[in-house]
Amino acid sequence: MYAVDESPILYKKAKGAEFRMPELPEVETVKRTLAPEIEGKEIIGVEVFLAKAVKPRPEIAEEFLPGRVIQKVTRRGKYLILTLDSQVKVAFHLRMTGQLLYQPRETPLAKHTTLRVSLNDGFDLRMVDQRKFGTINIFAPDGAGLAPCGLLTLGPEPFDVDALFSLKKAARRRKGPVKGVLLDQQVLAGLGNIYTDEALFRAGINPARPANSLTEEEWTILYEQICRVLTEGINHRGTTRRDYVDGRGQPGGYQKLLKVYGRKRMACLVCGEPIKYARIAGRGSHFCPHCQK
Ligand SMILES: [Zn+2]
Repeated sequence: MYAVDESPILYKKAKGAEFRMPELPEVETVKRTLAPEIEGKEIIGVEVFLAKAVKPRPEIAEEFLPGRVIQKVTRRGKYLILTLDSQVKVAFHLRMTGQLLYQPRETPLAKHTTLRVSLNDGFDLRMVDQRKFGTINIFAPDGAGLAPCGLLTLGPEPFDVDALFSLKKAARRRKGPVKGVLLDQQVLAGLGNIYTDEALFRAGINPARPANSLTEEEWTILYEQICRVLTEGINHRGTTRRDYVDGRGQPGGYQKLLKVYGRKRMACLVCGEPIKYARIAGRGSHFCPHCQK
């Protein structure tokens, strides 16, 4: 089940410390900070420090990347994608603690550096990843040794015209928690734990509600709130709880505006009742039992 981005097993390994996966707004912010710096630059060298992170094989990175120019930096779901010349693509998934940083070559390598891509301007693009779950998928032009990758099975982007349709269609067949549908990357690409909790709170819908019990009207409201929290998240350059920084090493600002996530037992900002924390759809979830039906 390589296509599932957030398996409960991965999450369990992080227990005891709050590791939080970058979601759409964070990856979008990384993209926006990296693109002006690295687009048009040529890759002059590659060093792989964590072989298992590079798919299908670390030698592919060393073989296909040097000498190529980074033409475009894009995002799809939680993947950051570099398109190089000759149709080579590199897809990064930051998982829990991955960071992608544009740094001068002389900056000492951070302890958990997994990949260094040297550019022709004297700077590096570096992946630093404390928990080492982040992945780097190389798509060679001939499809050589293509590794299975969740990128290939992603559902629509939240702002796509068919996003709401995809959610409602998936929910019709599911009695499990609505939160599980929102987190399913094959249904909708980009949402993770924080933005689902925030969207469900703003929509007044309990995360444990069976997905197939939501009315048409509730889906419309929920979808509006998903778009709203993602837009706000992007506008505030993402949420930094612990590890996330953008391509220039700067934290985001949306953590100051979260209404439920990370507010366990604190007073609900709407009704004053304590915010509840429970494991729903395999994830630690924050909600107000009074405001969310
Ligand atoms: Zn409340």
